[in-house]
Amino acid sequence: MDLDVVFLGTAASVPSAGRGLSSVLIRRGGDRILIDCGEGTQRQLMRSTGLADLDVILITHLHADHVLGLPGLVKTFGLRDRDKPLVIAGPAALQQFWNAMRRTVIGTLPYDVEIVPVHHEVAWRGDGYRVEAVPTEHGVPSVGYVLIEDDRPGRFDADRARELGVTDVRDYGVLQRGGDVPAVDGRIVRPADVLGEHRHGRKVVYTGDTAACGAVRDAARDATLLVHEATFLLEDSERARMTRHSTAHDAALTAAAANVQLLALTHVSTRYAPAALAEEAASVFPDVVVARDFDRIDLPFPERGGPVHEPRGVRPSRGAREGEPSTAEPLDAAIEAEA
Ligand SMILES: [Zn+2]
Ligand SMILES: [Zn+2]
Repeated sequence: MDLDVVFLGTAASVPSAGRGLSSVLIRRGGDRILIDCGEGTQRQLMRSTGLADLDVILITHLHADHVLGLPGLVKTFGLRDRDKPLVIAGPAALQQFWNAMRRTVIGTLPYDVEIVPVHHEVAWRGDGYRVEAVPTEHGVPSVGYVLIEDDRPGRFDADRARELGVTDVRDYGVLQRGGDVPAVDGRIVRPADVLGEHRHGRKVVYTGDTAACGAVRDAARDATLLVHEATFLLEDSERARMTRHSTAHDAALTAAAANVQLLALTHVSTRYAPAALAEEAASVFPDVVVARDFDRIDLPFPERGGPVHEPRGVRPSRGAREGEPSTAEPLDAAIEAEA
């Protein structure tokens, strides 16, 4: 099962020529989960993965740099005649924001939108995984999100099964699915006889904006990837404290305490060189990258290796290469009809 994280916007508070406002796309199999939707997110999608029909949008908090892309994105889905329902989850204030946007700039949509208020519960459940909201500390109601895959069955030991007298390969499947089978001598062979320990699934944590926070540290325990905001350097820790943001040093301390495999810093301010953020974090936690827009982090199953950071790793979709919007259908007719 493929799992990766695509960075669509990595800027703190204001965009720059090279960085869009906060947004990441998590792709797991055919599922598409967008976290945060800063202004310009739909175009960042068009320029990279294509404007996929998202299953769910998760909002960390209601600051402008994390939500202003939402009205435009849902409107574009409408102009493309989307009919699949869309779930948008976030802190309770999301409902007010949505109501106002819906009334003023969005209007009617050809698909249903369900707004789900979250604080500390499962925000989204997919096939084989769930995404939990974790309360963070940012001075306004805010959450981070943790994607947790279900445990996988242990590795099947075919040699052991043969030794025990299971000769029919169809019985291998029965054992792997948790059933008992008879051996050639009539004894019963059980799954525990031939399957190793359950294997943990992968875990991805996205903090959104937050000061260093115990809830994130606990939620990130043994995570495959921790995407942590790093708005400041330690030299500006007083400002970080006042604005309820983190320093690169804070993020690295959390990564080390939680024993994550890879730390990716985002919410990067133009105030600093990214290398300075990386250096500060690496002095505490060496497995760190500073994300840029269109970077991709691939997360294979642990037995196939650790997370792989691919700078500018999303191949532009065909439309983006040709300078056209990479939408599934031409938009022109719909736009003319609307105008
Ligand atoms: Zn922000
Ligand atoms: Zn914020």
